[in-house]
Amino acid sequence: MSTVKRSRRVLIVCHCLLNANAKVFPLATCPGVCMTPLRRSLEEGAGLLQLPCPETVALGLNRFGMTREQYDHPAFRRACRTMLEPSLDQIEVYASAGYELMGLVGVDGSPNCGVQTTCYGFRGGELSAPESNTEEQVANLCLAPGRGVFMEEMLSALEARNLCIPLFAVNESNPELLVAADRLSTERR
Ligand code: SF4
Repeated sequence: MSTVKRSRRVLIVCHCLLNANAKVFPLATCPGVCMTPLRRSLEEGAGLLQLPCPETVALGLNRFGMTREQYDHPAFRRACRTMLEPSLDQIEVYASAGYELMGLVGVDGSPNCGVQTTCYGFRGGELSAPESNTEEQVANLCLAPGRGVFMEEMLSALEARNLCIPLFAVNESNPELLVAADRLSTERR
């Protein structure tokens, strides 16, 4: 079989960019594939390597929207590392074979896949309890600079394997744009 046609170029993408059905209801901004920010890479011959959605793997489709503080737990981080292993093995194989790893595309605003911004605020608690002030909890929610939990684990794992891949982000609130992200500019809060 001929291998001439293959591009030898691979773009790594967070799961919901190829499957918006994984997003917390009702956040999807497209029916399925988020085409616009990926189109140029596809035209340049990119093959896509889809990472697992950590939230859907761990909590399923009936999960509530949560913040970075809620996901930032050792057991969840361990689960992220475990679910990333098969993807990391594939990425390493492509790198070893001399394929171009064009980039890693995250989702800004996500508590897990945020590259430059993530979602902070709610730290947990029983919303239906009389003492709970739901409006105050909602008012506390904000987007601010920082990485998502899953993205932090992904970047640490890439570093451990000596894999340096350009970072990009699609913004949850403006999914038309693909922006290059600085590896160093976003400090953990
Ligand atoms: S941003 Fe990450 S965690 Fe959120 S739905 Fe997409 S893949 Fe899943």
